[in-house]
Amino acid sequence: MSSQSVEWSVLESIHPTICISNEDAIVTLLVPVELGIEHPVHIFHVPHDTYLVASSFSVSTDVPSHSASLSVLPPLHFRIALPPTYPTHAPPIIQSLRATSAWLPPPTLSFIKERMATMWSPGDDSGVLYTWVEWIRTGDFLAEVGLLGDDRHSIQIPHPSPQLLLTPLHAYASLSKSDEFAHTSYLCAICLSERKGVHCLALSCGHVFCRSCLVDMWGLHVKEGQVSRVGCPEPNCGKTDAEDADGLREATEDEASAVLSENELDRWKWLRRKRDLERDPTMIHCPMEYCQEPVPKPESDASRVDVSDEDESGWARLRTCTACDYSFCAFCTGLTLLPTPSHFQIHLRLPLSSARFPRTPCYRTPIWS
Ligand SMILES: [Zn+2]
Ligand SMILES: [Zn+2]
Ligand SMILES: [Zn+2]
Ligand SMILES: [Zn+2]
Repeated sequence: MSSQSVEWSVLESIHPTICISNEDAIVTLLVPVELGIEHPVHIFHVPHDTYLVASSFSVSTDVPSHSASLSVLPPLHFRIALPPTYPTHAPPIIQSLRATSAWLPPPTLSFIKERMATMWSPGDDSGVLYTWVEWIRTGDFLAEVGLLGDDRHSIQIPHPSPQLLLTPLHAYASLSKSDEFAHTSYLCAICLSERKGVHCLALSCGHVFCRSCLVDMWGLHVKEGQVSRVGCPEPNCGKTDAEDADGLREATEDEASAVLSENELDRWKWLRRKRDLERDPTMIHCPMEYCQEPVPKPESDASRVDVSDEDESGWARLRTCTACDYSFCAFCTGLTLLPTPSHFQIHLRLPLSSARFPRTPCYRTPIWS
């Protein structure tokens, strides 16, 4: 048995619910933060630009308006590549890291990746995965990433829309009496067999299915391009009587990323964008990962348009999400976007004086140039 498979089987026996898969030298881990006792969690507001790029967040002196008392925080989802010479001669490579419900800001996730890379040392053939898992699971990382309050007990989470984050944090906490879930049996409505929770996935609607059933079913639908079939298989889930009884409640991005492979996930996102565009060519999903709300083309508002040809005006490209208040360029959607001054003038054709955006680099060149 190779050191890699020894490491994996040990980790799997300790943390069966965390070890999701190990295929073709790609390991998938879903690591919840289990604090043991309840901690006060304060979600404080930061502007979008700070949320996306700041390396540290200063807590505003205002009383945080969104607080909860929680003993668990939603899992971090790791996809990790193990090079053939891991663990002795090469470090594992974190291919992707997501926080369920996007509860951690992107710069914090980057910091976590960098910090984890320093935990591996050459020559140690026992592997680093257990250390990684424990650093996250026990919440030890919270202090290092600067989310622990001065009292070393409360947790401070920066977020552009605190009220949007509070709901999934509560939902996860109530669902995840995780031991309880792992040892309870559930009847899977796909294969009609009883499985222990450890082999299952609870969707955000509360319906529970075998993980392997969902992997097969959703994988097939993604392959066949049936994006509307990637959803909760429970009949009528999330539907009111008025709605199309055939349609499924579609999977959220968190659900899809917990089930689909990286390639399937990319294809699913692409299919979904394509479908939405076909339905309504002016509809765009909010590019903020935690939000994803549909943002329709704004009603033309003559008072704001300062370019004579309305269709060509920059304002038509500027969208503001009503759910989270993020403003973005409709031409660059689908990515995390921070327009530069020149972007502001070229894509949006707006006078620079009207810029509400931070002057930080745009991450991608426009498709049409
Ligand atoms: Zn099943
Ligand atoms: Zn459901
Ligand atoms: Zn939004
Ligand atoms: Zn743009």
